[in-house]
Amino acid sequence: MSSTRKSPSRRSVSQKGTAIAPTAPALPAITRADANRLLKERAQELFHEARAQHEERIRQFEGEFGRADRIDNTLLRDLQNLQVRFAAIAARQHKYGSNSEPTVSKYAKQIGDIIGTLSAHLATERALELFAPVEEREYVGFGGTIGRKGLDESILGGYAIVDDPQGPKNVTPTVIDEEESQVCLHENVEPIEDEPTRGVCAECGEEFALADPSENVA
Ligand SMILES: [Zn+2]
Repeated sequence: MSSTRKSPSRRSVSQKGTAIAPTAPALPAITRADANRLLKERAQELFHEARAQHEERIRQFEGEFGRADRIDNTLLRDLQNLQVRFAAIAARQHKYGSNSEPTVSKYAKQIGDIIGTLSAHLATERALELFAPVEEREYVGFGGTIGRKGLDESILGGYAIVDDPQGPKNVTPTVIDEEESQVCLHENVEPIEDEPTRGVCAECGEEFALADPSENVA
């Protein structure tokens, strides 16, 4: 038996002819424009959450296994290490027999084929870069971003960077777009409405800790 079932409302029985229906406490009235603004803000929020999760998953993966967004020299080096190990194991097997082991001499050769393909790819990429035009956008960026090629943190080497006591904490530039050509400087971090100790970058949506307003009162 459900103990939460409500007995029929006494008022609903006897409201014939009256204009006042029993209702929940009145909700604050907002205009359709305000409602749309709320929906837009929420959509923006959901988008930023989704993107932050997406980026976090990639960061975790790449922290564990290495970059997945491009074929680079570290992948090539991993393969070369494997090839050398397989070649050494193959040499040992050749000399002393492989007993119950799988014979690996063919793997050393197969990895060599992969290495050939990848190093050709990397060489081609490098060759193309040789004649790639120098784009202002790739250095200077636009809005609150700078181009990745324009990011030179070594010029900050002679400085100790401290957080603005009133501002967001640990704001370091981060790469924001998928091609990694833009770096956000997070110049405009705005407090999150119902979480005043967190702020979100208006440009890229990255979140930062903010100064606790209650700590700054004294
Ligand atoms: Zn940003």
